[in-house]
Amino acid sequence: MFITIENVYKTYKTGASEVHALNGVSLQIEKGEHVAIMGKSGSGKSTLLHVLAGLTRFDSGSITIDGNSVGAMSDAALTRFRREKIGLIFQAFNLIPTLTAEENILLPLIAGGKKDIDKDRLEMLLTRLEIADRRSHRPDALSGGEQQRVAVARALMSPTDILLADEPTGNLDSANSMKLCQILKELCKDQGRTLLVVTHENEVAAFADRVITLKDGKIEQSVNN
Ligand code: ADP
Ligand code: MG
Repeated sequence: MFITIENVYKTYKTGASEVHALNGVSLQIEKGEHVAIMGKSGSGKSTLLHVLAGLTRFDSGSITIDGNSVGAMSDAALTRFRREKIGLIFQAFNLIPTLTAEENILLPLIAGGKKDIDKDRLEMLLTRLEIADRRSHRPDALSGGEQQRVAVARALMSPTDILLADEPTGNLDSANSMKLCQILKELCKDQGRTLLVVTHENEVAAFADRVITLKDGKIEQSVNN
């Protein structure tokens, strides 16, 4: 199995209060699978993505990604692992306002010291994401839908096996949401990438192979589409 999550617990402690965000989550995901994660606000969706990406440490249980035990890695190893393996997309587009669309897309690679930029991949992504004629624009000259597609191109420039998206359509209108879901799905299928999308919109979840519902930090339901 490509991703195996076994009995994972995560409690946030702030002062005297404790929040049990993940309460024994077990889940297996195949390579290339497209999974939607649904559930009410506070059900643990973002926490699940964060522990998968190694952005947050979990308390107990185990997470294995492509044979690598996430919990066993040092912080440095985990950072390296995330860079090589995992792309992230968030609800906020997080673009640098002073850079053009193309500069934003290439920034992680350039900042990471990569010299040989894959130009073919860049052109393919600009075309598929329908932002080729927007490449020289700064974010404030782009629509919300275009800005999120720039953020998607930025994530997909790295050849990571896994893409994690936390409410990627949360700031988009319905037409732009559907467009983003369609392109994201096609690009991930074409490239054999595993895609996990957190959403509370049924229309977004409908694109996935499987829909998982979290409730109070537990998996309540897993349904194949
Ligand atoms: P969701 O994404 O489904 O809305 P989250 O995973 O963000 O849920 O949060 C699950 C629970 O954990 C919520 O009760 C939330 O308030 C709490 N929580 C999330 N992050 C933190 C944090 N950094 N510190 C304390 N509590 C947190
Ligand atoms: Mg969330």
